[in-house]
Amino acid sequence: MPNNDAEMLRELNHFTRREHKMEEVYLFDLILCDNEIDRDGDCFSDHALETMQKLFVGVTGIFDHNPKSGNQTARIFRTQVVTDASRQTRTGKPYRYLKANAYMVRTDANADLIREIDAGIKKEVSISCAASEQICSVCGANKLKKPCGHIKGRSYQGAVCYCTLDGISDAYEWSFVAVPAQKHAGVTKTMGGSTELLPETQMLEQALDAANDSLDKLTDALRRDVIRLCYRGGETACAKALADSTIHMDADALLELRQSLLVGAQAHAEKSAAAVTSQLCPQKGTGTAAEADMGEFRMHRRKDGDAR
Ligand SMILES: [Zn+2]
Repeated sequence: MPNNDAEMLRELNHFTRREHKMEEVYLFDLILCDNEIDRDGDCFSDHALETMQKLFVGVTGIFDHNPKSGNQTARIFRTQVVTDASRQTRTGKPYRYLKANAYMVRTDANADLIREIDAGIKKEVSISCAASEQICSVCGANKLKKPCGHIKGRSYQGAVCYCTLDGISDAYEWSFVAVPAQKHAGVTKTMGGSTELLPETQMLEQALDAANDSLDKLTDALRRDVIRLCYRGGETACAKALADSTIHMDADALLELRQSLLVGAQAHAEKSAAAVTSQLCPQKGTGTAAEADMGEFRMHRRKDGDAR
Protein backbone atom coordinates (compact mmCIF):
# COMPACT_ATOMS: atom_id res chain seq x y z
CA MET A 1 0.00 0.00 0.00
CA PRO A 2 1.52 3.37 -1.01
CA ASN A 3 2.10 5.72 1.88
CA ASN A 4 3.35 8.94 0.40
CA ASP A 5 1.36 12.15 0.80
CA ALA A 6 0.71 12.69 -2.90
CA GLU A 7 -0.83 9.24 -3.21
CA MET A 8 -2.95 9.78 -0.09
CA LEU A 9 -4.15 13.14 -1.40
CA ARG A 10 -5.09 11.60 -4.72
CA GLU A 11 -7.12 8.90 -2.97
CA LEU A 12 -8.95 11.26 -0.60
CA ASN A 13 -9.76 13.65 -3.46
CA HIS A 14 -12.00 10.91 -4.84
CA PHE A 15 -14.34 11.77 -2.00
CA THR A 16 -14.29 15.57 -2.19
CA ARG A 17 -16.26 17.90 -4.39
CA ARG A 18 -13.13 19.79 -5.41
CA GLU A 19 -9.42 19.00 -5.35
CA HIS A 20 -7.82 19.70 -1.98
CA LYS A 21 -4.20 20.56 -1.34
CA MET A 22 -2.21 18.89 1.44
CA GLU A 23 -2.26 21.99 3.67
CA GLU A 24 -6.06 22.15 3.50
CA VAL A 25 -6.62 18.70 4.95
CA TYR A 26 -5.73 16.89 8.14
CA LEU A 27 -4.93 13.18 7.82
CA PHE A 28 -5.00 10.63 10.60
CA ASP A 29 -5.10 6.85 11.13
CA LEU A 30 -7.46 4.93 13.33
CA ILE A 31 -8.17 1.34 14.28
CA LEU A 32 -11.86 0.62 13.68
CA CYS A 33 -12.12 -2.88 15.12
CA ASP A 34 -10.20 -6.14 15.54
CA ASN A 35 -10.56 -9.88 16.05
CA GLU A 36 -9.93 -9.78 19.82
CA ILE A 37 -12.76 -10.58 22.23
CA ASP A 38 -14.07 -7.24 23.47
CA ARG A 39 -15.76 -6.27 26.72
CA ASP A 40 -19.14 -7.42 25.39
CA GLY A 41 -17.67 -10.90 24.84
CA ASP A 42 -17.77 -10.51 21.03
CA CYS A 43 -15.09 -10.63 18.38
CA PHE A 44 -15.19 -10.15 14.63
CA SER A 45 -14.39 -13.03 12.26
CA ASP A 46 -11.69 -12.61 9.61
CA HIS A 47 -14.47 -12.57 7.04
CA ALA A 48 -16.27 -9.79 8.93
CA LEU A 49 -13.08 -7.68 9.02
CA GLU A 50 -12.65 -8.16 5.28
CA THR A 51 -16.27 -7.21 4.60
CA MET A 52 -15.98 -4.08 6.74
CA GLN A 53 -12.76 -3.16 4.99
CA LYS A 54 -14.85 -2.61 1.86
CA LEU A 55 -17.91 -1.13 3.60
CA PHE A 56 -16.12 1.54 5.65
CA VAL A 57 -14.47 3.26 2.69
CA GLY A 58 -16.14 6.66 2.32
CA VAL A 59 -18.02 6.43 5.63
CA THR A 60 -18.23 9.61 7.68
CA GLY A 61 -17.23 9.79 11.32
CA ILE A 62 -18.84 11.89 14.03
CA PHE A 63 -17.63 13.28 17.32
CA ASP A 64 -20.19 12.46 19.91
CA HIS A 65 -18.68 14.44 22.76
CA ASN A 66 -19.79 17.63 21.12
CA PRO A 67 -23.39 17.94 19.93
CA LYS A 68 -22.51 21.17 18.12
CA SER A 69 -19.96 19.39 15.99
CA GLY A 70 -22.03 19.57 12.83
CA ASN A 71 -19.14 20.59 10.65
CA GLN A 72 -16.56 18.56 12.52
CA THR A 73 -16.78 15.43 10.48
CA ALA A 74 -14.09 13.22 9.11
CA ARG A 75 -14.26 10.71 6.33
CA ILE A 76 -12.47 7.42 5.82
CA PHE A 77 -10.83 7.26 2.41
CA ARG A 78 -8.81 4.07 2.72
CA THR A 79 -8.93 0.89 4.78
CA GLN A 80 -6.68 -2.09 5.30
CA VAL A 81 -6.86 -5.34 7.30
CA VAL A 82 -3.54 -5.65 9.14
CA THR A 83 -2.19 -8.85 10.68
CA ASP A 84 0.13 -8.47 13.65
CA ALA A 85 1.79 -11.88 13.79
CA SER A 86 3.74 -10.93 16.91
CA ARG A 87 0.54 -10.79 18.92
CA GLN A 88 -2.11 -13.43 19.55
CA THR A 89 -5.76 -13.02 20.49
CA ARG A 90 -7.18 -14.71 23.58
CA THR A 91 -8.36 -17.53 21.33
CA GLY A 92 -4.82 -18.07 20.04
CA LYS A 93 -5.25 -16.54 16.57
CA PRO A 94 -2.88 -13.97 15.05
CA TYR A 95 -4.12 -10.49 16.00
CA ARG A 96 -5.84 -8.75 13.06
CA TYR A 97 -7.36 -5.32 12.93
CA LEU A 98 -9.10 -3.00 10.52
CA LYS A 99 -7.03 0.11 10.04
CA ALA A 100 -8.44 3.22 8.37
CA ASN A 101 -7.02 6.43 6.97
CA ALA A 102 -9.32 9.41 7.46
CA TYR A 103 -9.23 13.07 6.59
CA MET A 104 -10.82 16.30 7.78
CA VAL A 105 -10.90 19.54 5.88
CA ARG A 106 -9.13 22.01 8.19
CA THR A 107 -11.42 24.77 9.48
CA ASP A 108 -11.34 27.17 12.44
CA ALA A 109 -14.11 25.09 14.02
CA ASN A 110 -12.13 21.85 14.09
CA ALA A 111 -8.72 23.26 15.05
CA ASP A 112 -9.18 22.20 18.70
CA LEU A 113 -10.35 18.77 17.72
CA ILE A 114 -7.32 18.29 15.47
CA ARG A 115 -5.07 19.28 18.35
CA GLU A 116 -6.81 16.70 20.56
CA ILE A 117 -6.34 13.97 17.98
CA ASP A 118 -2.67 14.95 17.55
CA ALA A 119 -2.20 14.83 21.31
CA GLY A 120 -3.64 11.31 21.40
CA ILE A 121 -6.62 12.37 23.52
CA LYS A 122 -9.14 11.17 20.96
CA LYS A 123 -8.16 7.55 20.85
CA GLU A 124 -11.42 5.73 21.42
CA VAL A 125 -13.28 4.79 18.30
CA SER A 126 -16.71 3.26 18.22
CA ILE A 127 -18.28 1.73 15.13
CA SER A 128 -21.85 0.92 14.20
CA CYS A 129 -22.51 -1.95 11.86
CA ALA A 130 -25.17 -4.53 11.11
CA ALA A 131 -24.24 -8.15 11.82
CA SER A 132 -26.64 -11.01 11.09
CA GLU A 133 -24.56 -13.69 12.81
CA GLN A 134 -23.47 -13.92 16.41
CA ILE A 135 -22.02 -17.40 16.67
CA CYS A 136 -21.74 -19.00 20.12
CA SER A 137 -18.24 -20.44 20.71
CA VAL A 138 -19.66 -23.30 22.79
CA CYS A 139 -22.48 -24.71 20.63
CA GLY A 140 -22.15 -22.90 17.30
CA ALA A 141 -25.69 -21.47 17.46
CA ASN A 142 -26.40 -18.13 15.83
CA LYS A 143 -27.69 -16.34 18.91
CA LEU A 144 -29.48 -13.74 16.80
CA LYS A 145 -31.67 -16.44 15.23
CA LYS A 146 -31.82 -19.12 17.93
CA PRO A 147 -30.65 -18.00 21.37
CA CYS A 148 -28.83 -20.74 23.28
CA GLY A 149 -28.34 -20.89 27.02
CA HIS A 150 -24.62 -20.12 26.94
CA ILE A 151 -23.59 -16.87 28.57
CA LYS A 152 -20.70 -14.87 27.19
CA GLY A 153 -17.82 -14.65 29.64
CA ARG A 154 -18.79 -17.81 31.47
CA SER A 155 -16.84 -21.04 31.40
CA TYR A 156 -18.22 -24.26 29.88
CA GLN A 157 -16.09 -27.36 30.37
CA GLY A 158 -13.04 -25.15 30.78
CA ALA A 159 -13.66 -22.91 27.75
CA VAL A 160 -14.90 -19.34 28.12
CA CYS A 161 -17.95 -18.57 26.00
CA TYR A 162 -17.68 -15.74 23.48
CA CYS A 163 -19.42 -14.86 20.24
CA THR A 164 -18.01 -14.37 16.77
CA LEU A 165 -19.72 -11.68 14.73
CA ASP A 166 -20.18 -12.24 11.02
CA GLY A 167 -22.67 -11.60 8.24
CA ILE A 168 -21.87 -7.87 8.16
CA SER A 169 -24.34 -6.19 5.83
CA ASP A 170 -23.83 -2.52 6.60
CA ALA A 171 -21.37 -0.10 8.17
CA TYR A 172 -23.34 2.93 9.40
CA GLU A 173 -20.83 5.20 11.05
CA TRP A 174 -17.83 5.51 13.28
CA SER A 175 -17.23 8.03 16.01
CA PHE A 176 -14.77 9.20 18.57
CA VAL A 177 -16.18 8.62 21.99
CA ALA A 178 -15.23 9.77 25.45
CA VAL A 179 -15.03 6.46 27.31
CA PRO A 180 -12.32 5.13 29.60
CA ALA A 181 -9.41 3.36 27.98
CA GLN A 182 -10.15 -0.21 27.02
CA LYS A 183 -8.09 -3.30 27.36
CA HIS A 184 -7.30 -3.78 23.71
CA ALA A 185 -6.41 -1.33 20.95
CA GLY A 186 -8.46 1.53 22.37
CA VAL A 187 -11.38 0.49 20.25
CA THR A 188 -15.01 0.00 21.10
CA LYS A 189 -18.05 -0.73 19.03
CA THR A 190 -21.74 -0.08 19.42
CA MET A 191 -23.55 -3.35 18.91
CA GLY A 192 -26.14 -2.67 21.55
CA GLY A 193 -23.61 -3.11 24.35
CA SER A 194 -23.45 -0.33 26.91
CA THR A 195 -20.75 0.32 29.46
CA GLU A 196 -22.98 1.43 32.35
CA LEU A 197 -25.80 -0.78 33.61
CA LEU A 198 -28.87 0.45 35.46
CA PRO A 199 -29.47 -1.16 38.90
CA GLU A 200 -32.63 -2.82 37.53
CA THR A 201 -30.63 -4.25 34.66
CA GLN A 202 -27.98 -5.53 37.08
CA MET A 203 -30.67 -7.24 39.18
CA LEU A 204 -32.23 -8.81 36.12
CA GLU A 205 -28.81 -9.96 34.94
CA GLN A 206 -28.15 -11.59 38.30
CA ALA A 207 -31.53 -13.32 38.21
CA LEU A 208 -30.85 -14.45 34.65
CA ASP A 209 -27.40 -15.74 35.66
CA ALA A 210 -28.97 -17.77 38.48
CA ALA A 211 -31.66 -19.15 36.16
CA ASN A 212 -29.03 -20.03 33.58
CA ASP A 213 -26.97 -21.79 36.24
CA SER A 214 -29.95 -24.00 37.01
CA LEU A 215 -30.62 -24.55 33.33
CA ASP A 216 -26.97 -25.55 32.78
CA LYS A 217 -27.18 -28.12 35.57
CA LEU A 218 -30.48 -29.52 34.27
CA THR A 219 -29.11 -29.61 30.72
CA ASP A 220 -26.02 -31.50 31.89
CA ALA A 221 -28.21 -34.03 33.72
CA LEU A 222 -30.43 -34.37 30.65
CA ARG A 223 -27.36 -34.85 28.44
CA ARG A 224 -26.10 -37.68 30.68
CA ASP A 225 -29.55 -39.27 30.52
CA VAL A 226 -29.64 -39.03 26.72
CA ILE A 227 -26.11 -40.49 26.46
CA ARG A 228 -27.26 -43.46 28.55
CA LEU A 229 -30.20 -43.92 26.18
CA CYS A 230 -27.87 -43.71 23.16
CA TYR A 231 -25.82 -46.65 24.51
CA ARG A 232 -28.86 -48.59 25.58
CA GLY A 233 -28.63 -50.91 22.58
CA GLY A 234 -24.90 -51.46 22.92
CA GLU A 235 -21.69 -49.53 22.31
CA THR A 236 -21.92 -49.32 18.53
CA ALA A 237 -20.12 -46.74 16.42
CA CYS A 238 -23.53 -45.29 15.59
CA ALA A 239 -24.47 -44.98 19.25
CA LYS A 240 -21.13 -43.32 19.98
CA ALA A 241 -21.58 -40.80 17.16
CA LEU A 242 -25.04 -39.95 18.46
CA ALA A 243 -23.80 -39.67 22.05
CA ASP A 244 -20.88 -37.46 20.98
CA SER A 245 -23.18 -35.13 19.07
CA THR A 246 -25.05 -34.27 22.28
CA ILE A 247 -22.21 -31.98 23.35
CA HIS A 248 -23.44 -29.44 20.79
CA MET A 249 -27.12 -29.73 21.75
CA ASP A 250 -29.05 -27.31 23.90
CA ALA A 251 -31.84 -28.39 26.25
CA ASP A 252 -34.53 -28.25 23.53
CA ALA A 253 -32.56 -30.43 21.12
CA LEU A 254 -31.73 -32.87 23.93
CA LEU A 255 -35.38 -33.17 24.93
CA GLU A 256 -36.31 -33.87 21.33
CA LEU A 257 -33.60 -36.52 20.95
CA ARG A 258 -34.54 -38.08 24.28
CA GLN A 259 -38.15 -38.34 23.10
CA SER A 260 -37.09 -39.98 19.82
CA LEU A 261 -34.85 -42.45 21.66
CA LEU A 262 -37.64 -43.31 24.08
CA VAL A 263 -40.12 -43.84 21.22
CA GLY A 264 -37.54 -45.95 19.40
CA ALA A 265 -36.88 -47.97 22.51
CA GLN A 266 -40.59 -48.51 23.05
CA ALA A 267 -41.15 -49.67 19.48
CA HIS A 268 -38.24 -52.05 19.87
CA ALA A 269 -39.67 -53.34 23.13
CA GLU A 270 -43.14 -53.85 21.71
CA LYS A 271 -41.70 -56.25 19.18
CA SER A 272 -41.05 -58.78 21.88
CA ALA A 273 -43.73 -60.07 24.21
CA ALA A 274 -41.89 -59.83 27.53
CA ALA A 275 -40.16 -56.56 26.76
CA VAL A 276 -41.74 -54.43 29.50
CA THR A 277 -40.77 -56.85 32.26
CA SER A 278 -37.28 -57.06 30.88
CA GLN A 279 -36.85 -53.30 30.80
CA LEU A 280 -38.01 -52.81 34.35
CA CYS A 281 -36.15 -55.78 35.82
CA PRO A 282 -33.12 -56.46 33.66
CA GLN A 283 -32.08 -59.56 35.59
CA LYS A 284 -29.49 -61.92 34.33
CA GLY A 285 -30.48 -65.19 32.83
CA THR A 286 -34.21 -64.63 32.48
CA GLY A 287 -33.89 -65.48 28.83
CA THR A 288 -36.48 -62.98 27.60
CA ALA A 289 -37.07 -62.19 23.98
CA ALA A 290 -35.67 -58.70 24.60
CA GLU A 291 -32.39 -60.20 25.76
CA ALA A 292 -32.33 -62.44 22.75
CA ASP A 293 -32.75 -59.30 20.69
CA MET A 294 -29.88 -57.63 22.52
CA GLY A 295 -27.75 -60.70 21.87
CA GLU A 296 -28.32 -60.28 18.15
CA PHE A 297 -27.36 -56.63 18.40
CA ARG A 298 -24.08 -57.47 20.07
CA MET A 299 -23.29 -60.22 17.60
CA HIS A 300 -23.75 -57.70 14.88
CA ARG A 301 -21.39 -55.31 16.61
CA ARG A 302 -18.71 -58.00 16.88
CA LYS A 303 -19.08 -58.82 13.20
CA ASP A 304 -18.36 -55.19 12.47
CA GLY A 305 -15.03 -55.63 14.16
CA ASP A 306 -15.84 -53.09 16.85
CA ALA A 307 -14.25 -55.24 19.54
CA ARG A 308 -14.05 -54.23 23.17
ZN1 LIG B 1 -24.35 -21.66 22.77
